[in-house]
Amino acid sequence: MAVEVRDLDTGATRVLDVTGLFVLVGLTPNTEFLNGLIKLDEAGHVPVKPLMETETLGVYAAGDVRQHSARQLVSACRGWC
Ligand SMILES: Cc1cc2nc3c(=O)[nH]c(=O)nc-3n(C[C@H](O)[C@H](O)[C@H](O)COP(=O)(O)OP(=O)(O)OC[C@H]3O[C@@H](n4cnc5c(N)ncnc54)[C@H](O)[C@@H]3O)c2cc1C
Repeated sequence: MAVEVRDLDTGATRVLDVTGLFVLVGLTPNTEFLNGLIKLDEAGHVPVKPLMETETLGVYAAGDVRQHSARQLVSACRGWC
């Protein structure tokens, strides 16, 4: 397996032989659709109480979108870290 990478400054490309690939998807939560519906922090994460309640009655948030989430699978499943 190989990947072709491009230097964003020079535009030069080169091919790297690799045995695996981890994709960096960034850290911006996909929560724009919630804006105005529930409170978000400056980074776009959802502040929650210990049982994952948001400030809006009946609305809960789980997983990586939560404020202060550890951004790991186990904490996303467990609900809080
Ligand atoms: C490359 C990579 C490697 C990782 N490796 C590890 C690891 O080794 N160990 C570990 O513990 N964690 C790892 N993680 C972190 C782990 O994947 C996340 O913590 C976990 O997936 C978070 O689960 P989630 O359900 O909150 O979010 P996600 O898994 O991102 O699920 C959110 C889902 O919601 C969908 N969605 C988004 N917006 C909308 C919308 N408007 N309408 C409908 N659906 C929508 C998305 O398509 C997605 O399917 C890794 C993450 C990445 C990117």
